[in-house]
Amino acid sequence: MQTIQGTYGNMLYREQWRKRRQMILDRDGHACRNCGSPRHLQVHHRQYHRCKVTGHKLAPWSYPDRYLITLCDTCHRTGHRAYRVPCLTV
Ligand SMILES: [Zn+2]
Ligand SMILES: [Zn+2]
Repeated sequence: MQTIQGTYGNMLYREQWRKRRQMILDRDGHACRNCGSPRHLQVHHRQYHRCKVTGHKLAPWSYPDRYLITLCDTCHRTGHRAYRVPCLTV
């Protein structure tokens, strides 16, 4: 299992996430899955996973497709206000 320890700003993170994000945008047809908007798209995690053994969070790009969803920034913000993203220990 691939995990990260804090350094969210490094190059590896940006590059890995950029590719993963692009895969999800392609899958979702570059449109918000909630309202259909093609603008200001972001990829949202439906769940966060934390490794039982190390206590580290799973790297954002290493989640299976079913946990990632394309949302526009408006729906994304609204979603985060309405729901707390569950964090599972795996
Ligand atoms: Zn939307
Ligand atoms: Zn989100």
